[in-house]
Amino acid sequence: MDPLLQWARKNQSALIRLIRDLVECESPTDSPGAVVRCMELLAESLADIADSRMVDGSYVGEFRLPGRATKGRILALGHADTVWPLGTLRTMKFRNREGRLWGPGVLDMKTGLAMFAFAMRALRELKIPVRHTVSMLVNPDEETGSKGSRSTTESLARGARAVLVLEPGTGLSGKVKTARKGIGGYRVAVTGVAAHAGVDFESGASAIVELSRQISEKIAGFTDLKRGITVNPGVISGGTRSNVTAASAETLVDIRVPSARAGAELEKKFRALKPFDRRCSIEVTGGLNRPPMERTRDIADLFRFAHRCAAELGVTLEESSTGGGSDGNFTAALGVPTLDGIGAVGEGAHAAHESVLVERLADRVALLAKIVAHLS
Ligand SMILES: [Zn+2]
Repeated sequence: MDPLLQWARKNQSALIRLIRDLVECESPTDSPGAVVRCMELLAESLADIADSRMVDGSYVGEFRLPGRATKGRILALGHADTVWPLGTLRTMKFRNREGRLWGPGVLDMKTGLAMFAFAMRALRELKIPVRHTVSMLVNPDEETGSKGSRSTTESLARGARAVLVLEPGTGLSGKVKTARKGIGGYRVAVTGVAAHAGVDFESGASAIVELSRQISEKIAGFTDLKRGITVNPGVISGGTRSNVTAASAETLVDIRVPSARAGAELEKKFRALKPFDRRCSIEVTGGLNRPPMERTRDIADLFRFAHRCAAELGVTLEESSTGGGSDGNFTAALGVPTLDGIGAVGEGAHAAHESVLVERLADRVALLAKIVAHLS
């Protein structure tokens, strides 16, 4: 058996203990103190193998590994926050049952963090030389869009040889992600003219009627499924009472685009919205928040390399693309080869059945270690 895989199997119960500790340290994004405690727990667990520091609210660990690091940096990227509010553990306890680990944040993505920590431990204990500097960056706000941590992520990733995003893989086979759509949002607000709907109807200009036309005749039509562009007016509000022509109305629109070019095209279309009724005015704000992670040649190469590493472990690693975003969108947009979804294998992220396959813990740890050790 592959020595890394053997090591990972032998140390699996210690890995599960760390996963349990991390899951039982609840860390919703909107409770910063709790998220920091979770990061501190991770730092403690790494105290003997990494130098830890905090950078603008994010945890950074630099691993002390065998070999001479003469090449660039490999950055493992993760987040300590979850979508689960404090107290979720009361009804969703950590459990190791039916071949799975269950609990809030176990898949997204506390197991991924613990796996990488163990992968680095394996390299040390087996004295496998590593030619790169290896860092791990764990931010506190991925689930709400990484607004505070984006610049830290970008500054650590810039110029790196590779970024490994420890998000869960796709589906129960754990496919890695080599493409992610870009994500953005627009607010389209219409200002109309209020009037009494009975006495003075004609001097009113309904913002609701105007916005409805904008949505049905323009915005909804921006979706282009063939090209992978989706435009979703997900929230709508406006008006004050039924007997008044609405003076204002607005919609919040989610957009997903496969390429930067598609993002620029949409931007143009939104900015060009003109009122059908000249008495109304339209204000558009927003844009792309996460740039698309496009499957560049570098990303395809990195995937092929990971695929070979997995094959040595008897695993067929597949790739996938997704409409969901991650911090990998930021690093890929810098041109850094990024492999995303290389963390835990399971299902139910953000859902009550969130769980991780126990039988896929060891091969994933071994795969992460192999990639770090053998990347040229
Ligand atoms: Zn995540």
